[in-house]
Amino acid sequence: ESAEAARISVLPNRTKDDVPFELLANCYGQEDIESALQAGASGVGLLRSGYMMLPGRPVDEQEQFVFYQSCIAAAKGGVVTVRTFDFGVDRAMADIHRGLESSKLGLRGIRSSLRQTHQFETQICALLRAAAHGPLRVMFPMVTNLEDWDEAMRLVAHCRQLLRERGEEFDPNTPFGVMFGVPSACLTAEEFVEHGCNFFVIETNDLTQYTHAVDRDISIAERYYRPASHAMKKLIRMVVEAAREGGIPVTICGSAVGNPANTLQYLQLGLRSFSVSPQNLIEVKKALMNAKIK
Ligand code: PEP
Repeated sequence: ESAEAARISVLPNRTKDDVPFELLANCYGQEDIESALQAGASGVGLLRSGYMMLPGRPVDEQEQFVFYQSCIAAAKGGVVTVRTFDFGVDRAMADIHRGLESSKLGLRGIRSSLRQTHQFETQICALLRAAAHGPLRVMFPMVTNLEDWDEAMRLVAHCRQLLRERGEEFDPNTPFGVMFGVPSACLTAEEFVEHGCNFFVIETNDLTQYTHAVDRDISIAERYYRPASHAMKKLIRMVVEAAREGGIPVTICGSAVGNPANTLQYLQLGLRSFSVSPQNLIEVKKALMNAKIK
C-alpha cells in the first residue's frame, strides 16, 4: 500500500481530462509539513499558527519568526499559507490562549486580534520578517465584513513601517488574504478584491457551521452539518466567481476536503486548489486524477 502511495504521490496533478489542479496541505508545523510533501503536497494551504503556543506561554516575535522560518524551510520552496491566531473553542488544544474567544459567535479569529493589537502586531511583524526567507502568505480567519479587513490591513501597514524604522529585513510584498468561514463574507467576496485582497481561502469547517447554524462539535446535530449542501455550493460559487473576476487565486481547505465525495463536488464548482490533511492527500489525489470536469 505504501508503494502505491509513493507511486501516486509523484504523478502529475491532472484530472482524467487533463485539467491541472493544485494540492496543498493543512498543517500544524515543520513535522507534518514534511510528511505532507512526501505525500505529494506542493505546499501548505493552511498553517494553524495558534498551535505553536501550545506550551502555554505567549510566543514573542523572535520565537514566532524562528517557527515560521522552520515551516518555510520544511516546505522546500512551496508556499506556506499562515492563518493568523484563532483560538476558537472548536480549535482543539488551543484553549490555553482562549481569552476573548470563548464563544463561537463572539470575538474570535480576526475579531479578537483587532482587540489585542499588540499580540496581532507581534505576529504580523514575525510573519513579514519570515516572508523574506521564502514564499509565505498570510490570511485572516473569521472575517465578516470589509471593516475587519480594512482595519487589519491598516495594522499590517503600521507593522511594515515599524520594521522599516527598526531596519529589519522583511518582505513588503507579502500576500494577504481572506478566509471565508462566514457566509456574510462570501456574499460580498468581490469587495475584498477591490480593497486589495491578494488571495482567497474557503474554510469548509467554519463555513459549514455558520451557514447551517450547527455546532461542528455536537454530533447530535450531525445531520445538519453538510459541507456540500446546496447552500454551501451557492456560497462557494460566489467566492470562486469573485476570485476569477478579480484575477486572484482561491483555495478550499478544511476537513471536508479530505473526503473525496466533497472534493469532487468542489472541483465541479470551479475549484482547482485543494488543501487537505496530510493523511488524506493520496486518496484525494487519486479521486481528482480519476475525475472529469462536467
Ligand atoms: C476550517 O474551519 O475549515 C478549518 C480548516 O480550520 P480547522 O481545521 O483548524 O478547524
